Amino acid sequence: MKKIIIAIDGTSSTGKSSIAKKLAKHIGYTYIDTGAMYRAVTLLALRHDIIRQDGSIDEAHLETLLQKATLSFGRNEESGQSEIYLNGENVEREIRGMEVSSHVSPIAAIPFVREALVVQQQAMGKSGGIVMDGRDIGTVVFPDAEMKIFMTATPEVRAQRRFKELQEKNMPATYDDILKNVKERDYIDSHRTVAPLRQAEDAYLMDNSDMTFEEEMDVLINMFKDKVSGE
Ligand code: C5P
Repeated sequence: MKKIIIAIDGTSSTGKSSIAKKLAKHIGYTYIDTGAMYRAVTLLALRHDIIRQDGSIDEAHLETLLQKATLSFGRNEESGQSEIYLNGENVEREIRGMEVSSHVSPIAAIPFVREALVVQQQAMGKSGGIVMDGRDIGTVVFPDAEMKIFMTATPEVRAQRRFKELQEKNMPATYDDILKNVKERDYIDSHRTVAPLRQAEDAYLMDNSDMTFEEEMDVLINMFKDKVSGE
């Protein structure tokens, strides 16, 4: 059977990665979390004090570091999930905290950061058989992806989900801070000059504010079946 590319884009904390992971597992595809890649670059920047107190970024320093950095995904044997490595170190937990979340969007708006990561993402997905989630997968990384979904939900629903997720992981955060962060990221992600967040014309819009996870899965699995059977 033909191995297609599935692109899942959308706003922050919409549950893209949860559904993308589950779908990939169900259909035997590889899942690639591109947000984790932007988050890992942000962690690299934070560790080297590249983000100044006033929020400005030492781009020249970041560019040098990025040229030498390696990003890779490895499988956690216990959970079966893929996790991200920065220069050989597993940084999966650290990149999910509020510090990285509050600095990632400005880092992801830098053109050379996007160029470097997009090249890697295209290489990872070129043979198909992947579910990739992010902000620009259906528009820039794989504009010819056979199946495209654009996911969204109200900011309040998204903040509540994220709050619950961080609480479950014992990671400090307040609902109000998360809501503010979700709105800020939406704004920066959709207003940047390079690869702004937008729905591809041929993407299916899924607002999951009032949908259960199972309902979302049903929609995606049916869509996948249609695509691979050529309907
Ligand atoms: O998906 P996640 O929320 O983990 O992504 C973190 C941030 O990385 C987003 O808010 C966005 O700024 C950036 N991002 C991006 N392009 C992607 C994936 C993520 O700009 N393809």
